Amino acid sequence: MDVVDVIRAKRDGNVLSDAAIDWVIDAYTKGAVAEEQMSALLMAIFFNGMTPQELSRWTAAMIESGERMSFGDIGKPTTDKHSTGGVGDKITLPLAPIVAACGAAVPQLSGRGLGHTGGTLDKLESIPGWRASISHAQMRTQLRDVGAVVCAAGAGLAPADRKLYALRDVTATIESIPLIASSIMSKKIAEGTSALVLDVKVGVGAFMKDADRARELARTMVGLGSAHGVNTVALLTAMDTPLGLTAGNALEVAESIEVLAGGGPADVVELTIALAREMLDACGLGAGKDPVDAINDGSAMDCWNAMIRAQGGDPAAPLPVAPFRHEVAASSSGRVVRMDAQAVGVAAWRLGAGRARKEDPVSPGAGVQMHAKPGDLVTPGAPLFTLHADDETRFERALDALTEAVDISAADAAWSKPKLVLERVGA
Ligand code: URA
Repeated sequence: MDVVDVIRAKRDGNVLSDAAIDWVIDAYTKGAVAEEQMSALLMAIFFNGMTPQELSRWTAAMIESGERMSFGDIGKPTTDKHSTGGVGDKITLPLAPIVAACGAAVPQLSGRGLGHTGGTLDKLESIPGWRASISHAQMRTQLRDVGAVVCAAGAGLAPADRKLYALRDVTATIESIPLIASSIMSKKIAEGTSALVLDVKVGVGAFMKDADRARELARTMVGLGSAHGVNTVALLTAMDTPLGLTAGNALEVAESIEVLAGGGPADVVELTIALAREMLDACGLGAGKDPVDAINDGSAMDCWNAMIRAQGGDPAAPLPVAPFRHEVAASSSGRVVRMDAQAVGVAAWRLGAGRARKEDPVSPGAGVQMHAKPGDLVTPGAPLFTLHADDETRFERALDALTEAVDISAADAAWSKPKLVLERVGA
């Protein structure tokens, strides 16, 4: 095979053969196809797309580039969730132990955050002692004994995606539905779960700003999962407003623990329960224990404590707190009718909760706490946000991000609560 012929074929709108796809992914992973050549091929795919057969083969070749895990022998059905990323999206934290407390095993390989949406591992790493890296043997034991594992994906899992994702990041080829779908699904299929629920975010704080593109991404991923034997469904969920009342690592852990204790913000509870029911249905446990009961009887909290301890964490240790705070107050009275998820995400990121480059550290205590959400009535001077940072100089740029973040209308103006779960996409 000649890589230039493969690039030319895709550039000219032709369909790549299975053999060409297998070869190019393998050769790129081994370093035999140069970065500039793969950049050109990615850009050709960005503009010309992929047929369903090309996409299925491309995804299969990415899975084949590394190991495919299997948990068929642990004695419980496996089920997992993947979110395309949103502001304040801490749902994995309460969700994994709730679903495990209902009898399933949740093998979640997660990532760190890049940009304005936080990463699950960054959040959990704010718990003193907690380790993201564990061996396969420990993962298997923990799944059997505790039921839930959230950990870092090892270098052996879909290594082609690791290289391709880094390249896409610097060649403006991230926002392509076939490339996003194959990237996410190759990792989730290789992870070895038998069922998968996708939370595809739609709105100003999400990758996909409009419902049509989000639906297309959801359908594409559901199709790939099903074709590879993973029972996959997707929910399209709103990401115009941040989820919950916190955006930032330790702040979000504290809010997740509130949910497990039976409290927490209504939107976080609603989405957690909706996703838990889908995960249980998808792995055949839908008729068993209700996720709400797992919260009420304390079994989900027990599972959380066991899951944190199993990875070296101390669930009773105080969470890190940032030393500096700055309050933002409402300047008028009325009803909050909009709170921009993107703006809050950027503010949390500028406060130190996220990273600009993947090698940057994150601050565990930094972030944004929200005191009012759309629908709430406020008076002048009432607190809207508390900003948390390790360093006071970070406040100015975070405040810049928030200048247009909130709209307040007359208290008696018509307002109706927007839906959180917008649509379900099944196989
Ligand atoms: N997350 C991924 O893992 N891959 C993408 O392409 C986009 C989001």
